[in-house]
Amino acid sequence: MQRDDIETFANHIGGRWEAEPEWMPATNPATGEPIGRLPRSSRETARRAIAAARAAQAGWAATPVWQRAKACLAIAAQIDGARDRIARNLSLEQGKPFKEAHGEVGKAADGFRLAAELVKQLGGETLPAEDPSKLLLTLRQPRGVYAVITPWNFPVNIPVEYLAPGIATGNTIVWVPAPTTSMAAVELMRVIEEAGLPPGVVNLVIGEGAVVGDEIVAHPDTNGIGFTGSPATGQRIAERGAGKPMLLELGGNGPVLVFADADLDRAAVAAAGGAFFNAGQVCAATGRVLAHRSIVEPLAQRLVEIARSHKLGDPLQQGTTMGPLNNPKVAAKVREHVDDAVARGATVLAGGKPRPDLGSDLFFEPTVITGVTRDMRINREETFGPVVPVLAFDDDAEALDLALDTEHGLSVGLFTADLDRALRFGEAIPAGIVNVNAGSTYWELHLPFGGGSGTKSGIGRLGGRHTLEAMTELKMISITRTGK
Ligand code: NAD
Repeated sequence: MQRDDIETFANHIGGRWEAEPEWMPATNPATGEPIGRLPRSSRETARRAIAAARAAQAGWAATPVWQRAKACLAIAAQIDGARDRIARNLSLEQGKPFKEAHGEVGKAADGFRLAAELVKQLGGETLPAEDPSKLLLTLRQPRGVYAVITPWNFPVNIPVEYLAPGIATGNTIVWVPAPTTSMAAVELMRVIEEAGLPPGVVNLVIGEGAVVGDEIVAHPDTNGIGFTGSPATGQRIAERGAGKPMLLELGGNGPVLVFADADLDRAAVAAAGGAFFNAGQVCAATGRVLAHRSIVEPLAQRLVEIARSHKLGDPLQQGTTMGPLNNPKVAAKVREHVDDAVARGATVLAGGKPRPDLGSDLFFEPTVITGVTRDMRINREETFGPVVPVLAFDDDAEALDLALDTEHGLSVGLFTADLDRALRFGEAIPAGIVNVNAGSTYWELHLPFGGGSGTKSGIGRLGGRHTLEAMTELKMISITRTGK
């Protein structure tokens, strides 16, 4: 592993790149080859980053909002300028095709531009008072130092969902990215630095989540938490950070419902798109397709055609539409879910197998499975891979029952020509997002995104003004007229 031709990466704390004595390998998922050495940071390093963020916070909060907005625009411009390089490295490290990586980096720049726009409009209000001597108003103030922890499936975009509104609103940040995509984090940190942000406003600490992530969540000097990841880690963070305001964006197992009156071509394209984009490693992915029994066959046929049209391979090669899965843990889960479904009687119509011949055992074929039943893991749990499991229903009551039979509630797609039915289902399913005649992955940066109440998909809403509001605190000020 001790190769000289690979880069050793560093943390970024208080405006300086700092090496860490311990390191962990960065690996190319398409080949299994080492591509970098990453800091395996200690709790002590995380504490230094918190101290740097704390030292910068008052000054950054006092920086006029138009200046903070300009800083966000400067970061967006740096991202645009480095878009090809960031996308190439993202593709190399994460495994998504270059075109998808390029799209993700473009959205990251948009995220900074959106925060710059919105923060200038973020105000409090004046309120009527029972007592005529009072003038009442509310202000929005930054919460302070934010602990931000992000996953590997969108390692540029998801951090920006917290960093852009956090910076814009005057918070400072300690950011722990996912270990398997920490090079992407370094890329983003570089452009933030090049944009001229003051030292300590954003601090990057690379390492194991259970060590440095845990430290920044539990530390008394962080004031808010932004976390995107699995429900299990989210639960742990909720306990360790108890009492702090937190945004928890967790897993999904989104149903895409296809009724007998649906436009099947449209439904198939959207359902397959939601399952195969980023090799299915999307929280809002098509977790399962619930289809009326009368249309299961023609729908499945269309899904199979789309699955077979994908080109699995090196994500940096032109023409590749699906790369490898990101890491061995997710690949093992995908294999287990497919094997469990087959063992319990489901039928694989397309794919279903790993493809180690393509360069590593993280490649998995785009897969369509019918005859899926409730008890199967592929229906009950989030698979996070390129698999479309199809379950049949006979009437609306059964469709709703199947849709509700999950612990998750992030996003739903439903296809029907009947608007009343669409609204009935949309209102009944406890998910943060319901897309009618569109797949479960449809979302735009300014829209609220998050888990439904009573589900394991998270707490709070990310997106547009919702994140700016969540990352600020409302302060009420009363002014008493003294009559002088
Ligand atoms: P994960 O929970 O394993 O890891 C997420 C992050 O948490 C990583 O950076 C990890 O290092 C860190 N972490 C791990 N243990 C920790 C601890 N004890 N304390 C603090 N931090 C810790 O999730 P993952 O496998 O990286 O990501 C996939 C999951 O994320 C899926 O469930 C997916 O649905 C979910 N996700 C949700 C959204 C959303 O917006 N709702 C978006 C993307 C991904």
